[in-house]
Amino acid sequence: MNKLAYLLLGSNLGDRAARLAQARADLAATTGNIVAASSLYETAAWGLEDQPAFLNQVLAVETELDGPTLLTACQAAEQQQGRERLVHWGARTLDVDILLLGQEIIATPTLSVPHPALPARRFALVPLAELAPQLVHPQLHRTIAELLAACPDELAVRRYAA
Ligand code: ATP
Ligand code: CA
Ligand code: CA
Repeated sequence: MNKLAYLLLGSNLGDRAARLAQARADLAATTGNIVAASSLYETAAWGLEDQPAFLNQVLAVETELDGPTLLTACQAAEQQQGRERLVHWGARTLDVDILLLGQEIIATPTLSVPHPALPARRFALVPLAELAPQLVHPQLHRTIAELLAACPDELAVRRYAA
């Protein structure tokens, strides 16, 4: 049965907007129909701050894939753009995280859904709230708009005009 997955794309190396466009094409081919895409947002790097700013975008994808298979597709899209895992939270050509997969809750060593850091990250909540402000987080039982209003993260997230 189809579920709606929300994926967060991020890039801070090279032609960031082109990388996100390529990721949309790759993910549409491997995961399912992209039914909505947020604006692009520019965000100062989170975690390790001495690196270029990120462009982020959230996609809503209608998918038949289960969580592990969806994760594999997300990682294949990263590989497609030559991503190397050098430093955790370091600069990368492409990062694709699963924020939500319908109302599923997954907790394995390699996959946590909803993404545990979602409530702590404006760069994820702002584009997600653009698409689905009234969506209820399956573990926290609060809407995305409520999580955003309560988010303590102070990093600026600006709408990006190419
Ligand atoms: P963060 O997860 O804090 O945003 P990151 O994206 O930099 O950090 P990565 O190096 O891209 O971390 O991924 C590390 C591992 O996280 C992946 O190999 C994957 O197994 C795991 N992981 C767990 N939950 C998720 C999820 N919801 N989406 C994507 N990867 C996940
Ligand atoms: Ca990430
Ligand atoms: Ca990731």
